[in-house]
Amino acid sequence: MDRRTQVADNLAAVRARIARACEDAGRDPGEVTLVAVTKTFPASDVRLLAGLGVRDVGESRDQEASAKAEACADLDLTWHFVGQLQTNKARSVVRYASVVHSVDRPSLVTALSRAAAEVGQSVRCLVQVRLDERPGRGGADPMQVSELAASIAEAPGLALAGVMAVAPMGADPGPSFARLAGIAADLRAEHPEARWMSAGMSEDLEAAIEAGATHVRIGRRLLGARPRTG
Ligand SMILES: *Cc1c(COP(=O)(O)O)cnc(C)c1O
Repeated sequence: MDRRTQVADNLAAVRARIARACEDAGRDPGEVTLVAVTKTFPASDVRLLAGLGVRDVGESRDQEASAKAEACADLDLTWHFVGQLQTNKARSVVRYASVVHSVDRPSLVTALSRAAAEVGQSVRCLVQVRLDERPGRGGADPMQVSELAASIAEAPGLALAGVMAVAPMGADPGPSFARLAGIAADLRAEHPEARWMSAGMSEDLEAAIEAGATHVRIGRRLLGARPRTG
């Protein structure tokens, strides 16, 4: 099977899962955006996905993402940065990404705001929330979300869009995503514009949609196994 057919089949299967999950949850599929996570895969795959109607692309490493975005500059795509982000990469990231899902500390808010002002772009930011006790994978403590969100909302060049999380490994994602939905609701009470909830990956998109996810981030089920996890 050629790559295009393979990716088209995978995409159809993922879209069907999203549609079914929305139906089960009594939600409109139009409320859920598929972000295709293309990390470790070549720009040619991004091009295939774009040809199949995908408009939102996610990446997690700046060096790889900036090269890919440049190779795909002729395509009408929205680039989402979903990985852990070092402050010294903020200037590079805002050149191609209009959404950053992984804002988890005040120093990153400052760096992104400065970078966004420099390039004259507005960057949508999601507060990444840590849902387990392991700080290694990034994310702000749930207790810090409100303060971090307020600083994003006030920062020039940044727009507060909502929250993001990765479910803890090896546990039922349902309770974690329900907890994230509660945090998202609290945030909306303070910032009505912050309506996005980025949650759900290849193996747990149904649980995320049931909890109210507006953006699911899907890699492997679209493009196949990655050589390394990241
Ligand atoms: C890699 C990655 C994804 C996609 O995960 P899959 O299991 O391949 O669907 C989603 N979100 C983040 C933050 C990632 O790093």
